[in-house]
Amino acid sequence: MTRKSSTGAETSKTGVPREIAAAPRLLEWYDRHRRALPWRAPPGESADPYAVWLSEIMLQQTTVAAVKAYYVTFLALWPDVAALAAAPVDEIMKRWAGLGYYSRARNLHACAQTVVAGHGGRFPGTEAALRALPGIGPYTAAAIAAIAFDQRAVVIDGNVDRVIVRRHGIEQPIALAKPEIRRLADAATPAGRPGDYAQAMMDLGATICTPRKPACVICPLAEGCVARISGRQEVLPVKGVKAARPLRLGSVFYIRRGTEVLVRTRPPKGLLGGMTEFPGSAWDAVGDPEGKAAPLAAIHRRLPAPVEHGFTHFELRLTVFVADMPRKTPAPDGCRWVPEEGLDGEALPGLMRKVAAAVNLFG
Ligand code: SF4
Repeated sequence: MTRKSSTGAETSKTGVPREIAAAPRLLEWYDRHRRALPWRAPPGESADPYAVWLSEIMLQQTTVAAVKAYYVTFLALWPDVAALAAAPVDEIMKRWAGLGYYSRARNLHACAQTVVAGHGGRFPGTEAALRALPGIGPYTAAAIAAIAFDQRAVVIDGNVDRVIVRRHGIEQPIALAKPEIRRLADAATPAGRPGDYAQAMMDLGATICTPRKPACVICPLAEGCVARISGRQEVLPVKGVKAARPLRLGSVFYIRRGTEVLVRTRPPKGLLGGMTEFPGSAWDAVGDPEGKAAPLAAIHRRLPAPVEHGFTHFELRLTVFVADMPRKTPAPDGCRWVPEEGLDGEALPGLMRKVAAAVNLFG
């Protein structure tokens, strides 16, 4: 049961503001049920800022399950920020391939170099100083400040958004409710153990207050949760109206020469910058259904189904053409032959991996 205090703040049965009363319950739950994640320090130990930073950059727009193996590989190859700063950026891009949003990998390297050159190899401990580093936005700065430096910072990721919207019964789509969510998150963040509190909220959203079928019966925040009380936990957060993403079309050419395949490197700036790709046409509204953008004159077979891929701002549909060339065929300008078996060692983004998989299936 909640009630309003004379100041208008919601209070619990004990008269303590409800959000402040919730933090100890959440931390108690966290102490018993925290997820074991490779980048997390054991209970009671300080987290390594490098580990926290690396994991938070990897986790942007990506799931914990997808990140774990990448994180372990990166830490084995580059155990500290100095090692990462000294690594060739191409090698980092290769190891990042498959995680998506490749500007993050470039910023990772730039950030490591800035920390080494400008901060003596130690991450700064305040949100403001962290935000000044390449690739670190407001969320990541708050997460590192809280988790690695135990600073009181308001950490709001997608999981936290959902928990707050449900607890407070916010009926607006998350995108419109951001200021209110932030105000409520700020009011709820305790001065003590802010790093554990941030991780507890993330864990709660990931394991209990899940997008579908939240486990309200075992939730440490069930008391006073508006969504649970009103039976709206599966309705909230309400969905905003999403603008349809435009469709772009193009062609891509998977051209073999014996056991090799033709690739090229995309320009360093822009979408998938610096990544490896199979040659193809521009991506636009018209596409290249006849395969006119082929880099080599040959008889190209068209695969029966296109490869589709969603980017943040558009959907892409690529017509895939396959060809086999004589052994001595030189690579056209800007392209190179690489062993087909060695494609895994190339900085091949998810889209191009889909193309290779489609060729394996149909080609
Ligand atoms: S009670 Fe249910 S809806 Fe409310 S925070 Fe907990 S899991 Fe989410």
